[in-house]
Amino acid sequence: MNPFLFRQFRRLETKVHELNYLFWECTQRCNLSCRHCGSDCFTSAKDQDMPLEDFLKALDTIPNPFWQNTSPKSTASRASSVKLDESDSRTNSPSRKDNIDRLIVVLTGGEPLLRPDIEQVGKEIAKRGYYWSMVSNGFFYTEQMHRKLMAAGLKAITFSLDGIGENHNWMRGNPNSYEHTIKAIEIAAKERTLDLDVVSCINRRSISQMEEIYQKLKSLGVRKWRLFTIIPIGRAKDDPQMHLTNEEMVRLMDFIAEKRQSSKPHPTTTSNTAAANTAASDITTSNTAAANTAASDITTSNTAAANIAAHPEQEMEVSFSCEGYLGKYEEKVRPVRHFCHAGINIASVLIDGRICACPNIDRDVFSQGNIYTDNLFEVWENKFQAFRNRDWARKGICAGCKQFKNCLGGGMHNWHSRPDGSISLSDLDNPLSCHYHRTGGC
Ligand code: SF4
Ligand code: SF4
Repeated sequence: MNPFLFRQFRRLETKVHELNYLFWECTQRCNLSCRHCGSDCFTSAKDQDMPLEDFLKALDTIPNPFWQNTSPKSTASRASSVKLDESDSRTNSPSRKDNIDRLIVVLTGGEPLLRPDIEQVGKEIAKRGYYWSMVSNGFFYTEQMHRKLMAAGLKAITFSLDGIGENHNWMRGNPNSYEHTIKAIEIAAKERTLDLDVVSCINRRSISQMEEIYQKLKSLGVRKWRLFTIIPIGRAKDDPQMHLTNEEMVRLMDFIAEKRQSSKPHPTTTSNTAAANTAASDITTSNTAAANTAASDITTSNTAAANIAAHPEQEMEVSFSCEGYLGKYEEKVRPVRHFCHAGINIASVLIDGRICACPNIDRDVFSQGNIYTDNLFEVWENKFQAFRNRDWARKGICAGCKQFKNCLGGGMHNWHSRPDGSISLSDLDNPLSCHYHRTGGC
């Protein structure tokens, strides 16, 4: 799309700010110990899992014609056409209309499958008419688990595969992780009504395996593969093996561009609607917050969900996550231009109740409220100013950048507080990375 038109589109999306993706960090516990994890989660996290009732109470602040909090009369499918009464003051804002049709709840963590009530979680979300999805490391995703989750209304899933064999295990800190993840992908890929995508964190070890991963995923029947790089936060910050050199970044872009050029993704996956939903698209999200980079790539676009299984013959679409503006590579490595949807179409409920956007964003700086003291939907409607007006990011290397109008300082995950503990917006001085310059500019 023409850059001018794209900016118009982005402005309109920002004005309407329809909530399309709600991440729920439903646990911080994790069975793995990934090298790139941004959340520093552990097998036994300091924060307890959030009780389901607490999350549901927050979810039920979102206007929903299928579900009235006080008297749940209907469990009708979202596919049914139910019109809101236009005279109802709750429906006056465009973002309040028919939200049900476009909101997907994404469970993230930690590892969501560690929650003993995971089926119940899915059923409660589905009962309200929402699609739900999950970001998982796949370790516990057996055939039996798959059947249970499908019966609970699972519509989309993202698995992380960070290399072949030992390289994946090295990243995940477990010698059996690769075997389990491949099995999980195999199970999910056979389910034609499930929107599966696989995300890979490309680091200095896995960059030499990109072709091998590509062939492996194709052989398993995967139709969407998203690649992302590491944000230098959490455990990955001081690990040199995690961070690609600028030359390797270019190699990664060229690889993706070549794969996109040679495949023919179905038009529905390249539409602006999918784009609008991307972040989640990039809601990348591997099962860790880091991976959640771009968890963005909100993986699971609603449009994609609606088209699930419609094109079994489709080739695998390869794309780069939403994580940064790429200049000349923009239209070559993604279905749509860089657009950070955080706070525009994406919100999250974090483990301690804080309300933010993508889980990999600096939560101390950017959280907008807390479900234990605030109404989630009111916060969504009335706050998130720093997400919807990015002028504050004209600082540091971005201050005089000619690409600012296209980039807006990169994704919101690209701005983190300094180690001295500064936690206000005015204390942020530079983005963590400039992909535009790393990939050679224009
Ligand atoms: S903060 Fe923005 S760029 Fe980063 S993952 Fe989220 S949507 Fe993508
Ligand atoms: S300096 Fe880099 S990150 Fe900042 S606005 Fe320009 S291109 Fe974007």
